[in-house]
Amino acid sequence: MTGTNGAVREVIIIGSGPAGLTAAIYAGRANLKPLMFEGAQAGGQLTLTSEVENFPGFPKGVQGPELMALMREQAGRFGTEFITDDVTAVDFRQRPFKVMRGDEVYLAKAVIVATGASAKMLGLPAERQLLGKGVSTCATCDGFFFQGVPLAVVGGGDSALEEALFLTKFASKVTVLHRRDSLRASKIMQERAFANPKIDFIWNVVVRDIHANDAGQVAGVTIADVKTGATRRLDVAGLFVAIGHTPNTALFVGQLEMDERGYIVTRHGTRTSVPGVFACGDVQDHEYRQAITAAGSGCMAAMDAERYLEGTAGYYAPSGT
Ligand code: NAP
Repeated sequence: MTGTNGAVREVIIIGSGPAGLTAAIYAGRANLKPLMFEGAQAGGQLTLTSEVENFPGFPKGVQGPELMALMREQAGRFGTEFITDDVTAVDFRQRPFKVMRGDEVYLAKAVIVATGASAKMLGLPAERQLLGKGVSTCATCDGFFFQGVPLAVVGGGDSALEEALFLTKFASKVTVLHRRDSLRASKIMQERAFANPKIDFIWNVVVRDIHANDAGQVAGVTIADVKTGATRRLDVAGLFVAIGHTPNTALFVGQLEMDERGYIVTRHGTRTSVPGVFACGDVQDHEYRQAITAAGSGCMAAMDAERYLEGTAGYYAPSGT
């Protein structure tokens, strides 16, 4: 079955975080009438945070879900058509490109991939319940809310130490909880963390549970020694989970070039290894991972797609294609 009666769209956007929605706003204003698959969990990672204070234009801050609703409304205003469902397969080996939802096939001359990345979680039931209420996966986003209180960070990589160092600006103390007795993080980050008087380490422990106070905010964690199994409680007002991210790229394996961690490789802006397919936001960025950088790259992807569709004016194919 062919979706939209076999019509070939100018552009299909997959993903509805800040990258995808910004791409939709720009593509819509360029009269490309984008079709967006916004996914079963629309709005991306910002829908999992509470207040966003670092997105320009909101001097009083804005709730993550509200920001995403505003972006969606703006994309809709310029003609974006939304399908609130996941894409199940793509075929970028032939043109027009095929984007599948179950047995429905949608055709497009260009595709913008903005499927984002997911923070790895510990898998504790309380973790999901307390996300945005003291459990966080982003110190840059949420650290400011924890002034003068003790915090914990889980993980032993660069992200964990970067989060811990950042959080020392606000917290009274930051305890890094790591499941081994040596860190995976780079030496320089280790040196910085060890030299910071506000950072403590507890080695060979895993987080077993997260506790809330009467207001429903994180008040402590239970940690267990991996060698002895002994448990104890640590009173903290926040738990930052920094055990890595997974790019949402399973759909594109074998079709788009990816790096060793599974992130889509982009060159010359947002161009992927397949001309006509563009990638923006966290799916191609493991370094900055901010709403504003994702939005910026979404704008770039729409402009790159527009130039590609115009017939290569200003379009540079990535090297090797
Ligand atoms: P990572 O290097 O994969 O480290 C993940 C850490 O989390 C590891 O210490 C791991 O423990 C721990 N971990 C994983 N699953 C866990 C679980 N279920 N429970 C408890 N602990 C768990 O990830 P990352 O720190 O996000 O870094 C990703 C990449 O980005 C790295 O290449 C890093 O160098 C880079 N990065 C660089 C910077 C920087 O240079 N400033 C900043 C951030 C990230 P084990 O060690 O026992 O496996």
